[in-house]
Amino acid sequence: MAILDLDYHHGNGQQIFYERRDVLTISIHGHPSFAYPYFRVSGKKRQNDGLGYNFNFPLKEVINGIEYREILKKTLSIIRKFRPEFLIVALGLDTAKGDPTGTWILSPRDFYLNGQMLAGFKMPVLFIQEGGYRNRFLGINAKNFFRGFYEEYIHNH
Ligand SMILES: [Zn+2]
Repeated sequence: MAILDLDYHHGNGQQIFYERRDVLTISIHGHPSFAYPYFRVSGKKRQNDGLGYNFNFPLKEVINGIEYREILKKTLSIIRKFRPEFLIVALGLDTAKGDPTGTWILSPRDFYLNGQMLAGFKMPVLFIQEGGYRNRFLGINAKNFFRGFYEEYIHNH
């Protein structure tokens, strides 16, 4: 299986799978130099543990939707090459503009487009909601994400 962690914060816990080659782990997150977990040397781009089966994309402090999807596209191609039987998406919504724990500026429209991008797989996809701390926008962002995923999925299948 593959685990794609889209939460703003590093997918800490991925080290559980460092010894395994049947679990691919990928995290896109704010660089730990300014984002939680700050003090830990985790989520860096180059780490030798889990080599080939663990990919980290620590990004700069301000990331917009277009920059975000360039990275998302890279992760999807890594997942395709790995050919998992199913995909688990740790769907953090704290990448949204105005989230008190994040610094990125994704809009509701970006969540729609991100959802669309994830709909191309021909395998089961399980979404687990993670972070997202600005309650006022949580619902609209989640709704947009799943609407994008659903509409594109229906279109492809
Ligand atoms: Zn988070």
